[in-house]
Parts: sequence; C-alpha cells; structure tokens
Amino acid sequence: MENFRERIKDKKRIVVKIGSSSIIHEETGHLNFERMEHLVRILTDIHNSGKDVVLVSSGAVGVGMKALGLTRKPRSLTMKQACAAVGQGRLIAVYQKLFSEYNQGTAQILLTKNTMLDEIRRLNAKNTFENLFDLNIIPIVNENDTVSTEELEFGDNDTLSAVIAAIVRADLLVLLSDIDGLYTDDPAKHADAELIPVIEVIDDKIESMGKGSNSAVGTGGMVTKIAAANIVTDAGADMIITNAGDLNNLSRIMHGEEVGTLFLAHKRTNFRLLEYLEEKPYFTRR
Ligand code: GLU
Repeated sequence: MENFRERIKDKKRIVVKIGSSSIIHEETGHLNFERMEHLVRILTDIHNSGKDVVLVSSGAVGVGMKALGLTRKPRSLTMKQACAAVGQGRLIAVYQKLFSEYNQGTAQILLTKNTMLDEIRRLNAKNTFENLFDLNIIPIVNENDTVSTEELEFGDNDTLSAVIAAIVRADLLVLLSDIDGLYTDDPAKHADAELIPVIEVIDDKIESMGKGSNSAVGTGGMVTKIAAANIVTDAGADMIITNAGDLNNLSRIMHGEEVGTLFLAHKRTNFRLLEYLEEKPYFTRR
C-alpha cells in the first residue's frame, strides 16, 4: 500500500481544529490550561518548521457559560450569543498570552456563514489570511456566534474549519476530537469496533458510520466530521481525525506516523464551495 502518511510531512498549509470539550474540563467548566499550552507549543513548532498554520478553536460559549455562572448550555439564542461574546474575549486573551510566550504572533478572525456565502467577502477573508501568513501570524478562528442566527450559522466548527481549509487552499485539516478517529461501529457500545486508518472514498457506508456527539459542551459528532471531510477532500486537502486527549498525536501526524483516521484528498476540478454551503447538512451533494 502506498505510504500516504509519509506524504503528510510535506504538507505546507495546515488547519487545526480543536473542540470545546478538549480545552474545557468537563467536571468544572474551567479551561484546561495544560492542554492549551501543549497545543500552542506544538502549533508554534509546526509554524517554526516552515508551514502556514491556522487554529480553529471552539470554546467561546463554554468559557462564557463559566464566566456567567451557567452550568447548562443555554437554550435561548440570545443567551448563547451573550455567552459567546463574553467567552470569545477570554478565550483569545488566553491564547494570545500562551502564544506570546513562544514569541508567536496571532490574530483573531471571526466568521459567519453569511460572510462566506458572499463572494466578495469570501475573497476579502482569503486575502486577509494570505496576508497574515506572509506576516508569520497564526490566525485563530471561530464562528462569530454573537451575530450568527440559527438559520444561517455553521453551528459547528468542524464545518467551519473545512470551509477555512478550502478558502485558504490548505493541504491538510486536522480535527482534534474526543475520539481516536472513525470506527467501523460505535466503540462505546461495541467492543469489536475497529479504527479505520485511511478512507480513500467517502461512500454511503462511511457516511452511515457517523454517530452523534455525547459531549456536554461540544456540538459536532461524527456526522459533522464526515461532512467536513466531504468539503475538504473535494477541495483537494487531506483530513485527519485524531484524539486531542494526547496532543502528541498532532506531532506524530506531522512526522508521518499512522495516527487517527486519514481521509484522502480527491480534488474535484469544478469544486465550488457554495454548493456545500447552500444546504445543511452540507454533505447532501451526493
Ligand atoms: N463556536 C462555538 C463556540 O466557540 C462552538 C461550535 C462548536 O462546538 O463546534 O463555543
């Protein structure tokens, strides 16, 4: 079999997405600084090795919930938006402090689906990313939850990170999740479920393997990850799902080791991002 993993070492532009449940302690709702610190160190190192890096981080709503003394995810949209407004500021403040310890510059980019649907704004966003890469900055992206409405939101950062990867023409998207990768069945329920190391084509069988999320703070499940894989691989990038529980997984991936599930790129010559954004869920193209 061709060694797909060796090729990962040559990737030049990488988008890394981390979910809320990976940077927030589930028991208390406080930030997991050790995890964040480790992530920041690895990302800076990847950048130092000569690659462009984008971090897509969730956590605004979760951090805001904690700051406002809420123990459950609010139901009302305005309350969620208030949480995001409070939380995003705190989240970025922590990231900037941690990155500055390694002398790594960062920028905050907040996007909405609405922005991405508009060609001019999409192009503006792309140009800004390009400029930031030239300036050696690591952009930290989240959805602008405070102004996104339910009808027109990404809603989950798996999809958002896939859209970013497509816009900046990244060659790799890594989803840091609370699961090791895609299994043949739900590993929580079936002991014989096996991790799938590589997926060459996302067929109906693979799509049906997606299971819902059990996380208290996260929003995506396997379904949104497979939707993200559809966008990213069609756009021409590889995607890897790995467990954020051990962030060394990210370094191992960059060293070409077989970690997590790799979805192989199969670029569509007529790739049009809008096709994927116009509908929800995003993978209904097939
Ligand atoms: N944008 C949301 C937040 O920062 C998270 C979306 C997600 O969990 O994927 O809280």
